[in-house]
Amino acid sequence: MGNNISMPCKQDSTIESISMSNGLTSVFIDVMVVSGSALACSDREKEFIIWLAQRDQSAVGIGTVSFDIDEMPWSPEGFEEEKSFLLKVITHGCNELGWDKLHYEPRKDRIMNVLLCFQQMIEAFDPAFINFNDYLEWIEIKGDESPAIPPGFPKCEEHDVFLSCFGCILCNNRS
Ligand SMILES: [Zn+2]
Repeated sequence: MGNNISMPCKQDSTIESISMSNGLTSVFIDVMVVSGSALACSDREKEFIIWLAQRDQSAVGIGTVSFDIDEMPWSPEGFEEEKSFLLKVITHGCNELGWDKLHYEPRKDRIMNVLLCFQQMIEAFDPAFINFNDYLEWIEIKGDESPAIPPGFPKCEEHDVFLSCFGCILCNNRS
């Protein structure tokens, strides 16, 4: 078991999927969320980080958070800014931005390897494959449960990371 991050199946790419253990997946999401929560300014940037924080295996199930790059909440008109934001989050993640908030010490070689592969994918992603309907469906999820994006972009008081509909990913995974 484990989780994969892949290029869009329709995009002709030689980049191989990232295959991670469930544990390494959690570290990857945590590192992106602490870095991204410190860097996000615009609403869309915050939404990207919340989208990642929703891949909280303690809430949605271990080994169920695989995704393809085109499933992320890209916008056709803001693609270049969103891409450079994500690359910045990755770079600062490599430089351990926010790692002091984690309740554990990530294995640097392993997480760096994943971050660098993810960076390659974001750089190679062709915006022709953005599926804007995915985004519209995601932001409209309401139902009986809390909305996908908590109104007002609240952050955890302790960890200073954006809350997803499942709460704080760091509080949820505290052992
Ligand atoms: Zn927290």
